[in-house]
Amino acid sequence: MGDIGNSMSEVIVGIDLGTTQSAVGVVDSGFPILLADEEGHSLTPSAVWQGKNGEIEVGHSAVRRAGTQTVITSVKGLMGRRFSELQDSEKTYVTKIDTGFTVTTEGDGLTPEEASAEILRKMKQIAEARLETEVNKAVITVPAYFHDSQRAATKRAGELAGLEVVRILSEPTAAALSYGLDRLGEAAKVAVFDLGGGTFDVSLLEMRDGVFEVLSTSGDTRLGGDDFDHAISQFAAKQLDTDWETLAPLEHVRWLTEARRVKHALSSEDEVTFRIPFVGDVPMSRADFDQLLEPFLGRMEGGCRRALLDADLKEGDLKAVVMVGGSSRIPAVKERVQKIFQREPDLSQHPDEAIARGAAIQAGVLAGVVREILLLDVTPLSLGIETMGGLMNVLIPRNSTIPCKAGEMFTNAADGQESMKVRVLQGERELARDNWELGDFRVPFTPERRGQARVGVEFRIDADGLLTVLARDVATGADTLLEVGSTAVDVAEAQVEKMVSESVKFAFEDMNARVFEEAKLKANELLPAVEIALEQFQHELSQEDLQAITSARDSVTDAIKSQDATGLKNAVETLDHATEGLAALLVEKASSALFSNSQD
Ligand code: ADP
Ligand code: MG
Repeated sequence: MGDIGNSMSEVIVGIDLGTTQSAVGVVDSGFPILLADEEGHSLTPSAVWQGKNGEIEVGHSAVRRAGTQTVITSVKGLMGRRFSELQDSEKTYVTKIDTGFTVTTEGDGLTPEEASAEILRKMKQIAEARLETEVNKAVITVPAYFHDSQRAATKRAGELAGLEVVRILSEPTAAALSYGLDRLGEAAKVAVFDLGGGTFDVSLLEMRDGVFEVLSTSGDTRLGGDDFDHAISQFAAKQLDTDWETLAPLEHVRWLTEARRVKHALSSEDEVTFRIPFVGDVPMSRADFDQLLEPFLGRMEGGCRRALLDADLKEGDLKAVVMVGGSSRIPAVKERVQKIFQREPDLSQHPDEAIARGAAIQAGVLAGVVREILLLDVTPLSLGIETMGGLMNVLIPRNSTIPCKAGEMFTNAADGQESMKVRVLQGERELARDNWELGDFRVPFTPERRGQARVGVEFRIDADGLLTVLARDVATGADTLLEVGSTAVDVAEAQVEKMVSESVKFAFEDMNARVFEEAKLKANELLPAVEIALEQFQHELSQEDLQAITSARDSVTDAIKSQDATGLKNAVETLDHATEGLAALLVEKASSALFSNSQD
């Protein structure tokens, strides 16, 4: 080992905090290497066991307890989310405690963040033992689709483990680094395909001015190797006339462990026997497995095509397709990726080690032991605030390159209003209520007539993907700040994929709703003004004009009642047109009042 531990520069390690496996690496003499534990394993299962007296075991020894004792696994996707947004299947081994939730164990239970902290503490210990020095800083990777609070939770888990998290890095960007994709040169576009134990993630990147830029990301937070283990187990159970559902927990562990062995062997052999002692044998061919995989391959293909669409790219535009994640080793997965992108994918880096290697390279850059490479990420979903009529007003669109900032001016909706509520939203839907609320706060301002107060709202996303929202009352210069990264999310469904597909599915309804709300806002302004003006000027109008105005007014109220978007839009336009004469009278009256005032 080189002299990194005791040289002038402080050690920064790179950690792949995976759903099923984690790894830690560092740059040594210019090369990114993974650090192995005392048994020689460089991959550590992301599993935590807690004893009755609070003792903790992490990794292989925790896995060996599965089945007889509760072992926490797959906790990554639970971080930074609320109990209410978990799906039923995710709730099975977590218990709600007030606002947060705890993963049940033999001891007192851990929060998802605490469990992740234990895994990170283990990675820190492995690194310290190998490097023979204290390690206090780390780069930690997260999936590209992790939203702000999930990134913030990952950072807090690192801090709980005694690590200063100097950078949160997107996994595809780490993969691109480990494959050295920067060598492809200017304007090269590449795809990073990541199929791990529990998640699937595909990203398209482009080299611009010597830096990586993420063009689009897509994926599925509930698709990975674990699904294949279940499919194989259930296939075998059927052949052996065993009811999978009624098997005891320890049996499930045994069957799934065997399924995993068979799955791994089928990556290099054509036929493998699934064997449960005293139950029976099931011969399984690669063709059998491919058949079980088919529905999963279809979902994978959908994600890849969506990423291409989002980035407005064709398969032929790509200079390279790299595959990471342990499940990329499956031949059928590789074949499908080749078919989708119409080019031979690169699997030359060990797929389950590539992310950690990339994290190590980024750590090396930050520690000053590797030349500078600037990394750019994108926002997985649009960010904005709710405006009048319950509409979503986007400030930072989806797939914007970060770090970034954007601002807009807003005003008061009512006379004498003393404050404005700012609701920070994330999502792709036109109506505020269909998006996820990341937090809210009140901005006080000097009471003014309707539309007179000015509040500037600015969104800022730093290099770690953490969002800060600033609101400024222009009259007083007073600022109100909201750190969204540390605020609990209140979302119904934390799934980017679902959000995006719903925004497509409901595009027509959403557009209609927006047209209706906007027309209604205008109608609500126009109607009272028309009433007041009519009272004053009714006698000065021709019978014809009066008739036109009242019938236009009635069709506006009717259209609001019947929720008819296009009807309302047209009726408002007609009313606007019909009251032109009335408005002229009003202006005349107002200016003469102004003159008489100024003569005072
Ligand atoms: P994660 O990022 O989700 O923690 P990894 O990238 O480490 O996951 O991949 C773990 C998954 O890869 C597991 O489901 C494991 O069974 C699978 N895997 C590892 N090696 C092979 C192989 N040779 N063939 C098929 N699947 C494999
Ligand atoms: Mg992974």
